[in-house]
Amino acid sequence: MKDAASLSEDEVLTIFRQTSALLEGHFELRSGLHSDRYFQCAMVLQYPVLTARLCGALAERVRTAGLGSEVSVISPAMGGLFVGHELARAMEARSIFAEKQDERLVLRRGFRIGAGERFVVAEDVVTRGGRVQETIAIVRGAGGAVVAVAALVDRSGGTVDFGVPFFRLLKMTPQTWMPAECPLCRAGIPLEHPGS
Ligand SMILES: [Zn+2]
Repeated sequence: MKDAASLSEDEVLTIFRQTSALLEGHFELRSGLHSDRYFQCAMVLQYPVLTARLCGALAERVRTAGLGSEVSVISPAMGGLFVGHELARAMEARSIFAEKQDERLVLRRGFRIGAGERFVVAEDVVTRGGRVQETIAIVRGAGGAVVAVAALVDRSGGTVDFGVPFFRLLKMTPQTWMPAECPLCRAGIPLEHPGS
């Protein structure tokens, strides 16, 4: 029987499409590459009720793996903030965040990590995983332990390994092309410039 809190990949995709977080067409990315998809997670995070629903499903996966109790949540600002906050609400946990200072992530505002305190690291989108790795290092450096990483979307194409269980609602590997090799250009489909 399907749990009310769980969401299938199709249901997650539907939420991303309905909020225009996921656009399908012909796009020029900031890198100059062309793609048939454009993803902007902030478009879904602008709806707290939907964010809570997505994070509730993510929390369910963490709980099912037996890692949901006696944990706190930490996220890298900005994107991870809303996911961390809603994930912590669903897990009835504490939520803190790390933020950029002089190009690196640090804990500020009086946030403390207890000795042996167990954390789930929350992120909106994992691409190369650098911000998650930095956050893991902050927890361990302060004497805490990281038991899992949880993200709404994994765009790494399976290239990241955090050394702990990695929960994500959706794996999305973007298909990109050099402009000269783009089949959508060849087909004469108009090019869009999202986010501009
Ligand atoms: Zn193109």
